Amino acid sequence: DSFYRQLPKVELHAHLNGSISVATMENLISRKPHLNVQHSMTAIHKGQHRTLGQAFQAFKVIHQLVDTEEDILMVAKAVIGEFAADGVKYLELRSTPREETKTGLTKRMYVETVIEGIRQCKQEGLDIEVRFLVAVDRRNGPQVAMETVKLAEDLMVSSDGVVVGLDLSGDPKVGHGKDFVPALQKAKNCGLKLALHLSEIPSQKEESELLLTLPPDRIGHGTFLHPEVGGSQSLVDKVREKNIPLELCLTSNVKGLSVPSYDKHHFLYWYQLGHPCVLCTDDKGVFSTELSQEYQLAASTFGLSQEAVWTLSQQAISCSFAPGPLKEALSQRWVSLRPQVF
Ligand code: 5GP
Repeated sequence: DSFYRQLPKVELHAHLNGSISVATMENLISRKPHLNVQHSMTAIHKGQHRTLGQAFQAFKVIHQLVDTEEDILMVAKAVIGEFAADGVKYLELRSTPREETKTGLTKRMYVETVIEGIRQCKQEGLDIEVRFLVAVDRRNGPQVAMETVKLAEDLMVSSDGVVVGLDLSGDPKVGHGKDFVPALQKAKNCGLKLALHLSEIPSQKEESELLLTLPPDRIGHGTFLHPEVGGSQSLVDKVREKNIPLELCLTSNVKGLSVPSYDKHHFLYWYQLGHPCVLCTDDKGVFSTELSQEYQLAASTFGLSQEAVWTLSQQAISCSFAPGPLKEALSQRWVSLRPQVF
């Protein structure tokens, strides 16, 4: 629908390697035929479901396909271009720095290459502002997390403001959040914003620790925070008290089976409370979606008017990690684009 595509949008929760489109994936697969990758291994198509664990298998395959600087640059530019074509005006991409001994790729080169992709898109005049969150994969443990934070701190200084924050992601069944508190605290102390996957699976008792000690600047998913699904009122109260925005990914949660159906998505719970909720794609490639589609889904599932949808996309600006002047410029942009959308 053209309304949702034309709607200016903010994307705050997008994992780079989960966001690779079919066309780009075909290109990658043809470049590495010896890996024998089929599309069914890297994406969950319409009507299909996988457990979160199975979805994580897809990332293993994708990482094999994206293991050189050339691949990373190509993927970063393609993903940014696709978000721009879908009407995203401000994008925060996140990705886990990865080293590949086979190709000589280092973690620093990895992130620098993504940043180069972001720069090239800007130079080429793409109508989208892009910032980067360095991702910590919890599967790799607290020591790697600390090293990743140091890398992020370095790059925050050298990237001219492109690196704005840190993400905590990876298989939520692995490890305990409290082990990552020192690394996360260090990141926060030097000015990196924190976007943490939290309560993505039924409570692991790490939520209150992370909410009390840090707290994060945004929450990814937060699926099981509220009492109806085994969370608690005190967790909800903490999130509300600190006004921590939620990044909500409808298709990802339904296809990944953490939410039974669209109408049962926790968007409704938080939206009705008037809490800041930002619709996001998570992994538009793996879950075969687009941000415009997520807005349309939310509108049709929860009966949102076009005006309500507009307000939702506009409010996302204030939840971003963009510096003040950029937030101001984006707000102006929304005002000037409004007549074209309605
Ligand atoms: P990358 O960091 O390689 O660009 O993107 C893929 C990685 O993002 C995965 O290996 C995983 O660590 C993280 N990721 C992507 N989607 C999800 C998700 O839905 N939940 C969690 N916890 N992590 C995710």
